[in-house]
Amino acid sequence: MKQVYLDNNATTRMREEVLDAMLPFYGQTYGNASSVHGFGRAARKAIDDARQKAADLLGAASIEEIIFTSGGTEADNFAIKGAARALKPKGSHIITSSVEHHAVLNSCKFLEKEGYKVTYLKVDRYGIVDLDELKESITDQTILVTIMYANNEVGTIEPVEEIAKIAKAKGICFHTDAVQAVGKIPLETKSLNCDLLSMSAHKIYGPKGIGALYIRKGAKITPQMHGGHHEMGKRAGTENVAGIVGLGKAAELAKKELNEEKRKLSDLRDYLYKGITSRIESVRLNGHPDKTLPNTLNVGFKYLEGESIVLNLDMEGIAVSTGSACTSGSLEPSHVLTAMGIDPAETQGSIRFSLGRDNTKEDMDYVLDVLPPIIKRLRDMSPLYDNRK
Ligand SMILES: *Cc1c(COP(=O)(O)O)cnc(C)c1O
Repeated sequence: MKQVYLDNNATTRMREEVLDAMLPFYGQTYGNASSVHGFGRAARKAIDDARQKAADLLGAASIEEIIFTSGGTEADNFAIKGAARALKPKGSHIITSSVEHHAVLNSCKFLEKEGYKVTYLKVDRYGIVDLDELKESITDQTILVTIMYANNEVGTIEPVEEIAKIAKAKGICFHTDAVQAVGKIPLETKSLNCDLLSMSAHKIYGPKGIGALYIRKGAKITPQMHGGHHEMGKRAGTENVAGIVGLGKAAELAKKELNEEKRKLSDLRDYLYKGITSRIESVRLNGHPDKTLPNTLNVGFKYLEGESIVLNLDMEGIAVSTGSACTSGSLEPSHVLTAMGIDPAETQGSIRFSLGRDNTKEDMDYVLDVLPPIIKRLRDMSPLYDNRK
């Protein structure tokens, strides 16, 4: 059966070049990067090379601004808890948004239990945070603003440049979860003026279980992992050398291919969306028509239940999801679509197609052949569809 993977915002297939770069570090190059002998030095050199590649992709001023973590989730936890703890003497108020990934939302919720106050900014119907509400929310207690670069469920790109300016003008630390933006759209930490930025390798065709936090030189952050003097004293633990090498290779390739890939994916995405709307009625686009990631298409099929669409597509070899990987399987409506003010009846039937570098026009045509009869069959069975008039 034909297989079409359209869940690249959940994870991506690791590239051959990345695997090839990693393999020696599971074999003959096994030294501990902290050791002074040749074995150790070989591992250290590989880590430094990878750090340079990550710094290049993120447009960092120096490689010392890149700290490797176990993934995007740890980078978010480190950024938020680490900044909150370091800045506690200045205040205890944090501002985030209501559409963040759970790595950010639940880090903030955890800090609330520790006595911090958190403001969750509202978003408009496209998922964009309200800059006026941000300005009004800032108090003399505000120490951290954490707003994602681009949303994993609907693809909406937040006005991070403006947010960074607002935070900087008030001397407030700004963190952005850029896990979905890195490698997909051009971004540069130097000019962005963010203090902290999270990325993850497995969202850019690298291995799972490795990520990085960009920490601007001079930004205050308290380590959350204690032990040896690894990662410039900011994150203890013997380095995951193979993973770091994989992240470096994925970063190098992402930087080289970014523009070409961006164009290719947005063309395919637009083709898919046009095909869906011309073949199926009562479809809504969830997200912003142009301030969006090139690879993400979230559409609501009115009168339907997303899980049943996912399962029916799965039977035809097509992998999509109802939203984020973390919430699928639960029947709770997406917090992102809910925050965007979408009617619960419509959030239910929403599907995320997230494209990747392996996808072709033939894949889109296959979806466009398979999807309309599924939607028709499910709607024919749906009492909501019967009662729609
Ligand atoms: C995937 C993702 C994360 C978590 O990254 P992991 O490496 O899977 O822990 C965080 N934020 C966003 C926006 C993501 O898409």
